[in-house]
Amino acid sequence: MDVVDRFLEKRTLSQEEFVCLLQQSEDEKVRETLRREALALCRRYYGNKVYIRGLIEFTNYCKNNCYYCGIRRDNHHVNRYRLSEEEILSCCREGYALGYRTFVLQGGEDPYFTDERLVSLLRKIKNDHPDCAITLSVGEREKESYRKLREAGADRYLLRHETADRDHYHSLHPPEMHFSHRIRCLYDLKELGYQVGAGCMVGSPGQTLANLADDLLFLQRLQPEMVGIGPFIPHHDTRYAGEKAGSVEMTLFLLSVIRILLPKVLLPATTALGTMDEYGREKGLLAGANVIMPNLSPEKNRKDYSLYDNKICTGEEAAQSIASLIKRVESVGCQVAVERGDALR
Ligand code: SAH
Repeated sequence: MDVVDRFLEKRTLSQEEFVCLLQQSEDEKVRETLRREALALCRRYYGNKVYIRGLIEFTNYCKNNCYYCGIRRDNHHVNRYRLSEEEILSCCREGYALGYRTFVLQGGEDPYFTDERLVSLLRKIKNDHPDCAITLSVGEREKESYRKLREAGADRYLLRHETADRDHYHSLHPPEMHFSHRIRCLYDLKELGYQVGAGCMVGSPGQTLANLADDLLFLQRLQPEMVGIGPFIPHHDTRYAGEKAGSVEMTLFLLSVIRILLPKVLLPATTALGTMDEYGREKGLLAGANVIMPNLSPEKNRKDYSLYDNKICTGEEAAQSIASLIKRVESVGCQVAVERGDALR
């Protein structure tokens, strides 16, 4: 039996077999077979609903120096900003009126946002919008901190593992960042009852197919409720300025593989995918993705949350982007759902 059939039957593979499967990502027939299966699974569990998450990029200060990231600490060309509590609450109000029932607070690892400040913010958002879910994406913290944030109302946490290979991880990050701590954080978040999102960039510098196979096996072990993957895109102010971007095709292929591996997972068609291909997000929805995370950040700050070059939707306002988004979602036979869209257990 070939590896594609084995995967469809067992919904998992060994590391060597995953490498073999990934080697076939350019085979049109294989791609289409997996895409159809992924789409069928998505429809079975989630119908044609697409969940939207309002992304609020609330600070671009960061104490870390991830080599690939445009807002890393040592990039002195970044115009740093942090939103005030009132500005964040105002983004939520605007988002709520537009139909968002999940707010994602994402930022660099900004020491200004202590537990106390985040707790106060979470309580206020929950108080204003008790029917909404809050997702945090503010990097690595200690378990006690995650506990306080959870108790204050955070429902979900996005923390991409970036790569499941220790050596590859250390090639992408400075020596003071530790692979084991990042992984520890993901398990801490799970234990605290968060819906957890892991994930990685596709085509990051030095990444091999064996690394991607390890990423898949890691996701299978962790059993996250959400998985965020998108192509690596070089940023001009990083050491990877001249590197090739990750491929849209491989990203779409992996979306299908992940849908089959974790059938109930919440899987976004990411902004990075939409940046690399005008129809990247639509293609993502057709490959098994069921989440889109439009930008709710104030227009004046968007261009400064520049993780990579040419990021889309930096010149639009929230209301504009949702109208065009609904059309895009409907163009592939899906419907934007006005609900929290929690993970199916
Ligand atoms: N500080 C938070 C949020 C990081 S930004 C944290 O540590 O989790 C969110 C994600 O953007 C990162 O996890 C990374 O996978 C992605 N990202 C960063 N730089 C990128 C680049 N150059 N190309 C594509 N994705 C990138």
